[in-house]
Parts: sequence; structure tokens; C-alpha cells
Amino acid sequence: MSDQPRVEIYTKADCTYCEKTEALFDSKDVEYETYDVTDDDSRLEELADRADGQETTPHVFIDDEPIGGWEETNALEETGDLDAKLGLTDDGDVIEHRPLLIAGTGIAGLSAAIYAGRSNNEPLLIEGDEPGGQLTLTTDVANYPGFPEGISGPELINNMKAQASKFGADLINGIVDSVDADSRPFRVELTNGDVYTADAVIAASGASARTLGIPGEDELMGYGLSTCATCDGAFFRGEDMLVVGGGDAAMEEATFLTKFADTVYIAHRREEFRAEDYWIDRVHEKVEDGDIEIMKNTEVIELHGSQEEGVDYVTLVENEKGHPTDRLDDPETNEFEFDVGAVFFAIGHTPNTDYLAGTGVELDDEGYLRTQGGDGGGQTETDVAGIFGAGDVVDFHYQQAVTAAGMGSKAAIDADEYLEDLDRASSTGEAEVAAADD
Ligand SMILES: Cc1cc2nc3c(=O)[nH]c(=O)nc-3n(C[C@H](O)[C@H](O)[C@H](O)COP(=O)(O)OP(=O)(O)OC[C@H]3O[C@@H](n4cnc5c(N)ncnc54)[C@H](O)[C@@H]3O)c2cc1C
Repeated sequence: MSDQPRVEIYTKADCTYCEKTEALFDSKDVEYETYDVTDDDSRLEELADRADGQETTPHVFIDDEPIGGWEETNALEETGDLDAKLGLTDDGDVIEHRPLLIAGTGIAGLSAAIYAGRSNNEPLLIEGDEPGGQLTLTTDVANYPGFPEGISGPELINNMKAQASKFGADLINGIVDSVDADSRPFRVELTNGDVYTADAVIAASGASARTLGIPGEDELMGYGLSTCATCDGAFFRGEDMLVVGGGDAAMEEATFLTKFADTVYIAHRREEFRAEDYWIDRVHEKVEDGDIEIMKNTEVIELHGSQEEGVDYVTLVENEKGHPTDRLDDPETNEFEFDVGAVFFAIGHTPNTDYLAGTGVELDDEGYLRTQGGDGGGQTETDVAGIFGAGDVVDFHYQQAVTAAGMGSKAAIDADEYLEDLDRASSTGEAEVAAADD
């Protein structure tokens, strides 16, 4: 690609976001140069010179223009501006038809792709804004069956991607913006304007754990900071742990973590907990046992530590009027440092279902996708024929890798049965039957 702009990426060792950034350009078949700044001070100085003093990695330059890190590069991707900068834009709709399209390349989407590929349904997977899903945020998955020594999240996901590709799945970068269920095949539009059509769609788009956007968060996620106590609690045995939140999830996680922690602290920004009385009672029992301490009207504003050493301490603010971060100028707001070995955000998840608006699929009050569930086949069907759901986007309760994988395989089997029915109907001149069955 000789007229392609020059793409340069400053990287460092053990940098998940550097790998994600390189994968984004790889998915576009764009050539780039990488400069590893690990232990290379002159490269780091060069980066600071070019990036207006910034030394964070990854750092992308396109034709000498500083683009920024993963977040900025991905933001350009979502609007289609990255393709424009790379000279890859196509002003017409790029339409390709597939029997099956899968939204998401987390463990649910990839499990579905492995099964769908083996059923010759030529699945096309759209990666979304978190290629590989939430497991790419964790360094050690210790409870996925088949790996007695544990496996890193990115390695597990890369293995599954290779397995899915081996069976004929294709993965492309992009975010599904909308699914038009009035047309059959479904018309699936990405945020960059590209359009695909598909006879069946599996929504495997997960539920994103909410975070606070505070300093230290990006660097320490997966290195002492976690959004999943069930997954990561056991790694910090004997440490003091901080749970942030005041709802059911925070109470449940704090109670769970007492199995491993020296002391579990709960930081909640208000006086009253939102959690159900059941969970509050459980927590108070643990408080009486000396296992949990509650810090009300307290918020965390910064995390300190390193990827090598994990979380060292946090900066907290406290004000008895509540919501202390809204009162930072109040002389009664007390800021202090607090030593902990691990921090768990338990401030909820947001299911990624916006792109299904208008399709007619049923969502619950929180936005989770409703499927048939129950016994026998068809458990992953939504109430729109041909649209299936799998993984955390459906399952707000279990939210585990192995359960998401299981649902992904079920969705692929359900979709295969649907596609076979569609095929039979079409060969007997009844192409509209399945769609009209809604
Ligand atoms: C820090 C952390 C550690 C964890 N550790 C463990 C563990 O050790 N063991 C365990 O069992 N579980 C663990 N979990 C939970 C586990 O990661 C999840 O249950 C699992 O990833 C859910 O898989 P999923 O495929 O349903 O969703 P996700 O992994 O969330 O994947 C969702 C996918 O959908 C994509 N997407 C979103 N919106 C769109 C869109 N509009 N268009 C296209 N694609 C879209 C995303 O980019 C992503 O690829 C952990 C979770 C976290 C956060």
C-alpha cells in the first residue's frame, strides 16, 4: 500500500492497550512501524518531543500527526475518521451478505463463532469497542475449565480467535450501530457507515462494568484493580481490600471477599446503602465479626501503584454531607491516603444493547436482553425470530467466562436450526415463513 500514510506506534512491553492498538491496524491491513520504549530513554524522549510532552504508550502518529493512545485512536475508529485519515474510506455502503453475523468478540461471541463455523454458517464477527471482550482486562483466569495452571485472559481469547478462524469465521473491526429487523435479511449498520446483511444475528455484546474514570484506573485495571470479585478476589489473599459501591453487587462482593481479605473496606459515597436489606444485614454481621469496615460518605479519587507491584494505596475523600467529590472545595472535605492491596469497583454494569433499539427484541428494565431460557432447544432466541442473545448481555446474574461460553455455543446451535428452517422454507418457496413467525 504505497500511498498509505505513515503510521508509527510507540509501544512498551506488557502493554495490553498497545496490543489492542496494533490489532486495530492489523485488522485494516495497514502497515505500521513500532518503537518499543521499554528501557530506551532516547525513544522515550523522542516520543515526548513529538507528543507535546506526553510519554504514555501506546502513542500513535499518522503522517507525523500525534493521534494519541488506544482511547483516542478507537474514538476516531468509531466515527469512521480513522479510515478517512488512513485513506480507506469508501463513500458507498460496503455490503456483504452472511448467513450469520455476531456482534462481539468476547468469549460468548467467539464460542458461538467456533460452533457456527463448524456448521458452515460462515460467521462474521464485529469486534466492537473492546476486541476480545472483558477477559482481555485480566491477567489470570484461574477458573476456566481445562487450564489447571490458569491462563491469561488475552491468551485464552487469542486461542479462541484462532480456533474460530480455523473453522471459517471472519472478524472485523467495527461497532454495530443498528439492526434493521424490518428487512429480511437483517440490515446491520456499523458506526462507520458500513452495512452488512445477515439471515441471523447473535447479540453477544456483553455488559460493560462501570468505572470511575479516575487517575490510575487505566494503568492498574487487571493489576490490583478489578471489576469482578468472584474472578480476582483469590489473587489477593491476606491483603486489605477496598470495595467501591453501595448497591447489592457491592455488598455481595464485599461479603464474598471476606473469604480472602485481611479486612474488606467498603467506600460508599452516601450515608445510606442502596442495597436490599438482606445484603445490608449480611454486611453488618461481617462488620460485627471484624471482617468488614464501612466508610460512608467516602469516595476514591486516585489509585496509586504500578503494573509490577499492583495497587499500593488509594486517595480517598470524605465529607459527612455525602458525595464528597462534589464538595472538594468544602473545608470539611477530608482527603487522605489509605493503604490497600486490591480495589474492586462494584458500581454496576451497562448492557451493550443500544444497537438493538427498534428491532422489537425485549429488554428488561436495566437494558439486558431477554431470551426464551427454559429447557430444550431455542433457549437463546429473543422474541424476534433470527435474533439470538448470549453471554453477559443476557445473563446479569452469573456473568462468568464459562457461562458466557456455554450460552455462545447454545446461540450458535439455535441459530443453525433457525437457518436450516429458513433454508428449507426458501427451497419450498416459503421464504417469508420464518420472518412472519415473530
Ligand atoms: C477484570 C475482569 C476479570 C474477570 N475475570 C474472570 C475470570 O477470571 N473468570 C471468569 O469466569 N470470568 C471473569 N470475568 C468475567 C468475564 O470476563 C465475563 O463474564 C465474560 O467476558 C463475558 O463474556 P461476553 O462475551 O458475554 O461479553 P464481553 O467479554 O463483555 O464481550 C463483549 C463483546 O461485545 C463487543 N461489543 C459491545 N458492543 C458492541 C457493538 N455495539 N457492536 C459490536 N460489538 C460490540 C465488545 O467489543 C466485546 O468484544 C472477568 C471480568 C472482568 C471485568
